[in-house]
Amino acid sequence: MNKKTENIIEKGEQYLLHTYNRYPLALDHGDGVYLYDTEGKKYLDFFAGIAVFALGYNNKEFNDAVKAQVDKIVHISNYFYSEPTVEAAEKLVKASGIPGGKAFFCNSGTEAIEGAMKTALRYAYDRDGKAGHEIIAMQHSFHGRSLGALSLTGNAHYQDPFKPLISGIHFAEYNNLESVKSLVNEKTCAIILEPVQGEGGIYPATEEFLKGIRELCDEKDILMICDEIQCGMGRTGEMFAYQRYGVIPDVMTAAKAIGCGVPVGAFVCSKKAQSLKPGDHGSTFGGNPLAGATASKIFDLFESQHVLENVKTVGVYLYERLEKLKDKHEDIIAHRGVGLIQGLEFDHPVADIIQKAQDAGLILINAGSNIIRFIPPLVIGKEHVDEMITILEKCL
Ligand SMILES: *Cc1c(COP(=O)(O)O)cnc(C)c1O
Repeated sequence: MNKKTENIIEKGEQYLLHTYNRYPLALDHGDGVYLYDTEGKKYLDFFAGIAVFALGYNNKEFNDAVKAQVDKIVHISNYFYSEPTVEAAEKLVKASGIPGGKAFFCNSGTEAIEGAMKTALRYAYDRDGKAGHEIIAMQHSFHGRSLGALSLTGNAHYQDPFKPLISGIHFAEYNNLESVKSLVNEKTCAIILEPVQGEGGIYPATEEFLKGIRELCDEKDILMICDEIQCGMGRTGEMFAYQRYGVIPDVMTAAKAIGCGVPVGAFVCSKKAQSLKPGDHGSTFGGNPLAGATASKIFDLFESQHVLENVKTVGVYLYERLEKLKDKHEDIIAHRGVGLIQGLEFDHPVADIIQKAQDAGLILINAGSNIIRFIPPLVIGKEHVDEMITILEKCL
């Protein structure tokens, strides 16, 4: 390790709060689907900053759009209109396919979830003329770290030290419609789920489940919220994962790839779910011109770079290659996912494999202790899948 890297890591340990166990790498820059550390070592990236950087690194059009907006104006507050933000809202709403949809911009996934929760609570307050409502979330879900979003995150390890959290949250079994139905009562205001559970271990919803939730919500006047923060923005091959099922939610949340690293989060509400009124919700930075210009450009680049088509083609190829790997290795017990959000489950922890891969120039990420998650930039090619498999095989 060179002096510079040593120094960065040492200072990082001294001054950054230790809420993450960081790898002993300092990443310096990126190009295409490769990252470079401060030693000049090159890595193939199947992590994408946790499913964030969908485009290739050092994408000139992306960089130029961000820089141009910095030179114009970065922030104006939400008391004024800004052209790039209005454009981003239009593109997001159209991409969501939610009829009459309207967007609210914030700065992270967690905040998008907070907004979706408030939308549901406000909706039911108007529905019933009183407060005190309940939300149904899924076991093994992940919705973020703020106290509200954490209340919906079905993971005792994350929740327990911070209890009591928001009351009235019930956890159903994912892909089990009867389990959800058994938790519905007259106080239920929303059902929230990830169409593909990400952190929870790459579990795609079944069509029966998602359609069943939609029907249940219609029948009981409950809002259906799809958390598309990880599985949305093209990762499954559709712009948003619910579109694979022909289901339209009342509220959907986006973040991660919608800003490709510039902090952007958003939620979109259907006409019926536009319950929040002036004064009910806000954000100082949310949807500022920099965020707006960035998200707007990303939607354009998704089209001009044919990102969805690429995810579909390369996703199928990745699926085939991982299936073959699974057949060859007895310790791989499951393979799940679609597009460029896939996972291999092992019968043992994967930390060692991830470390070995890193040493060999491949950046991977886990989901839970036994699952390797494959969430590369969405512009990856088949040759990169081959390169990844070659390195991974050596590490198994
Ligand atoms: C990452 C993630 C979040 C939280 O997003 P942050 O930007 O980290 O606050 C919420 N939901 C899902 C599905 C996620 O993957």
